[in-house]
Amino acid sequence: MTALPKRRISTRRQGKRRAAQKLTPPALIKCSHCGKLIAPHQVCPYCGFYKGEEIVQSPKLKVKSKEEKRTKD
Ligand SMILES: [Zn+2]
Repeated sequence: MTALPKRRISTRRQGKRRAAQKLTPPALIKCSHCGKLIAPHQVCPYCGFYKGEEIVQSPKLKVKSKEEKRTKD
């Protein structure tokens, strides 16, 4: 014998269950240093800055920042 539901689930109950399945967009903030969209409370992966200080010297994602471009020119 296979397990079967005893009663049909009403559309109200079905809707209540499905109302909790909403997808939420990821929380993103603009980096205070380079302005790119990054995850909050984390060191920026583009410039390595957090709270106005350079934490990581060589970030994972290498993107030329404004300061680097000026020194090369
Ligand atoms: Zn940044």
